[in-house]
Amino acid sequence: MKLILLGAPGAGKGTVAKMLTELDGSVQISTGDILRGAVKAGTDLGKEAKGYMDAGDLVPDALIMGIMGERLLEKDCEKGFLLDGFPRTIPQAEELKVLLEKIGVTLDMAVSLDVPRDVILDRLTTRRTCENSDCQAIYNTKSNPTKVEGICDKCGSKTIQRDDETEEAISNRLETYQEKTAPLVGFYEGEGMLLSVNATSSDAVVKAIQDGLAK
Ligand code: AMP
Repeated sequence: MKLILLGAPGAGKGTVAKMLTELDGSVQISTGDILRGAVKAGTDLGKEAKGYMDAGDLVPDALIMGIMGERLLEKDCEKGFLLDGFPRTIPQAEELKVLLEKIGVTLDMAVSLDVPRDVILDRLTTRRTCENSDCQAIYNTKSNPTKVEGICDKCGSKTIQRDDETEEAISNRLETYQEKTAPLVGFYEGEGMLLSVNATSSDAVVKAIQDGLAK
């Protein structure tokens, strides 16, 4: 499958993407994971992106398009891909459209995960992420804790609260989402490829996406 996952931070894009990859071998492409990996590795990209990320601001479109222009050409994308956290602005969506046309790839759908604000706030403050950049498994201290506190079940690395999960950065990320990313819902509706999903459990979201793909 070739999908875009839209939704506010904490809407469950990463969790749902990881579940969908198990279904047909499509790869999850998370620009946030790629950027956090670059920050940890101390690359030029990471150095440039870190300040924006810690403040909860978006990284400039040109940097993101540079990453994605290369990533979408990699061989593993042939089986399908789940775009998690990209595109995040109208210019990114427009450039993605041109890029996909150029490489002859058609998207199945853009899925918008609609989750109430109080659920999102609660999820973001209780979310923990594996610090291993090759793993980045997601946990929640309330609803999905690790078996051993602070240790990733999958790879044994430490789980951490992300630098952009302070109250201030979270509120900035949600504002940025409303201003820059929420308009993408209208964009993809106009393209005739939007599926809006209201469910909050990830199993129900996956089911709704499978039903949408089957139509
Ligand atoms: P995420 O893990 O998707 O919440 O992304 C974490 C942070 O990475 C965001 O708050 C942005 O600073 C940056 N980021 C991720 N994806 C994008 C994107 N498509 N455009 C701009 N910035 C992004």
